[in-house]
Amino acid sequence: MTNPILSDWTTPFEIAPFADIADKDFPPALEQAMQAHNSQIDAIAENQDIPTFANTIEALEAAGEQMDKVLSVFFTVAGADSNPVREQLQRDFSPKLAAHFSGISSNKALFQRVAELWARKDQLGLSDEQARVLMLTHRGFVRAGAALTGDVDARMQEIKARLALLGTSFTQNLLADERDWFMTLTEDDLQGLPDFVIDTARAAGEEKGADGPVVTLSRSLIVPFLQFSPRRDLREKAYRAWTARGANGGDTDNREIAVETLSLREERAKLLGYDSFADFKLETEMARTPDRVRDLLMQVWEPAKTRADADAAILTQMMQEDGVNGPLEAWDWRYYAEKHRKAEHDLDEAKLKPYLQLDRMIEASFACANRLFGLEFKPLDVPLYHPDCRAWEVTRNDQHIAVFIGDYFARGSKRSGAWCSAMRSQAKFPKEQAPVVINVCNFAKGDPALLSYDDARTLFHEFGHALHQMLSDVTYESISGTSVARDFVELPSQLYEHWLEVPEVLAEFATHAETGAPMPQEMLQKVLQAANFDQGFQTVEYVASALVDLAFHDGAAPGDPMAKQAEVLDAIGMPQAIGMRHATPHFAHVFAGDGYSSGYYSYMWSEVMDADAFAAFEEAGGAFDPERAKALEVNILSTGGSREAEDLYLAFRGRLPGVEALLKGRGLVTA
Ligand SMILES: [Zn+2]
Repeated sequence: MTNPILSDWTTPFEIAPFADIADKDFPPALEQAMQAHNSQIDAIAENQDIPTFANTIEALEAAGEQMDKVLSVFFTVAGADSNPVREQLQRDFSPKLAAHFSGISSNKALFQRVAELWARKDQLGLSDEQARVLMLTHRGFVRAGAALTGDVDARMQEIKARLALLGTSFTQNLLADERDWFMTLTEDDLQGLPDFVIDTARAAGEEKGADGPVVTLSRSLIVPFLQFSPRRDLREKAYRAWTARGANGGDTDNREIAVETLSLREERAKLLGYDSFADFKLETEMARTPDRVRDLLMQVWEPAKTRADADAAILTQMMQEDGVNGPLEAWDWRYYAEKHRKAEHDLDEAKLKPYLQLDRMIEASFACANRLFGLEFKPLDVPLYHPDCRAWEVTRNDQHIAVFIGDYFARGSKRSGAWCSAMRSQAKFPKEQAPVVINVCNFAKGDPALLSYDDARTLFHEFGHALHQMLSDVTYESISGTSVARDFVELPSQLYEHWLEVPEVLAEFATHAETGAPMPQEMLQKVLQAANFDQGFQTVEYVASALVDLAFHDGAAPGDPMAKQAEVLDAIGMPQAIGMRHATPHFAHVFAGDGYSSGYYSYMWSEVMDADAFAAFEEAGGAFDPERAKALEVNILSTGGSREAEDLYLAFRGRLPGVEALLKGRGLVTA
């Protein structure tokens, strides 16, 4: 009997036949798919013919179709609907997959053929897209170290293995510090805390086996505690423990790990021929150089600091009115900021929620895509991996564009957060394939299901990623949809969030669940203004972390990262009542792996672009300006990674993004 994962999928639109797939099918399917992939790779590498684009690059693009099937199905269910068997499979698969893919990227014979092609790239008569795919393939091999030989190659393997180990230890130490610390609260200590914080504290207490409610170092508990607890002594104690994670001495201290990690990263970059690790990391990004990153961050830093200083003065005065003397401290900021927020724009979440029905917000996200890009959404009745999943066929002018799947509700079997993935990416080679795209969220179930404003924004955000996949129109899968630079990939998603804020969209779709009445104007205004609150603080804590990350990787690795951190903060005049969003000993983005190392800036880079890109609509004639929408699709949403991100943006906007729209959006300048 053939494995249902690897058989031909005869379902509508060749959606994976979830109903026929059992967990026991995954291991044999993966083994078979890896073997098939390896034979394909060997055949390409050992081909005796002169390397051509077709027999090498296109052959690589076409290889691994069974891997795509297994992994798309497996990672979909492992993330959105896991169980103990799937968790175990994930642990088994992860080292196998790492070894499989690193075997390909370090295949010398294969690299040799790619390198020969690269050397003759100008004589191959390639299309722009083909030239781009060749460049990316070659660069990927070189960056993975495929061109290294002998001792240098051996040293590179050693460094990579050691870095992987250091990253894991960093994460485990952090988890241990977060797990071990908690602070028991008496019934008196709960005063002033809202019910949801008390409930979370009680649940945490039970989980820890403590005698009553506790504060833990989990962000979802400690942040609201710092926001709402009137007890300054408890706030200080909790804040100090929170910011000491990874720096408590003993076995779980991360500071030595940071020293070694930074030094090995520098060595790795130099072995590959780069001046610094930041140069290596930024080569593939839109930002390209450390100077451009620093320049952007500093343009945002000054206005943010000005705003934060002004806010600090207000909060200090509020604190003094409370009878507390001395300077405002880091454990005071959130508490007084919350009081300030309540006084300035009190938004009652309970009154807001009935206006944000999940189904109406889905309709709103579809309606915007219809007005902007002419897309239509028709419900599809197909069996998926969980009864809560819904599917739509996406068409334009009666042409099939994609299948869109929405899996919106939280459940125990789903990991936290929200994400978008392509179960099948758009491509035209080796055959035409239309995308199957899924958005997974963690919204509370209800009848009707109601969202918070943040939830609604998440829905639009993930749908923006989905549009990037669905509107993709390229030939090769490796550059399809969201296969773009990390500091560019959040542009379509963050940009789409802006349409939720268009007053006419809220006016039409934010209707009361019981009465059907539109959201009152006054509430709508409050919703839109609340987004700007305390942006001085938030921008300062973020930019400080991003600047420290950059300083760690730009130039020689610091022998004492903690001293380097202090030096950077001193140089920019970090306000004393604001801590870094992530300080070095618990900066997991940077040290748990190298995904966001010298890349923490990219959230803001994308935000600068999304604000600037939406401003293009407003300048042109409004949020639904058809010419702008067309330009967005043609230059950004359909192009995947077929061109440099900067060129794509230039083509859309006619110039590079400036920070003005972001500063305005965050309320850091007066318009
Ligand atoms: Zn995103």
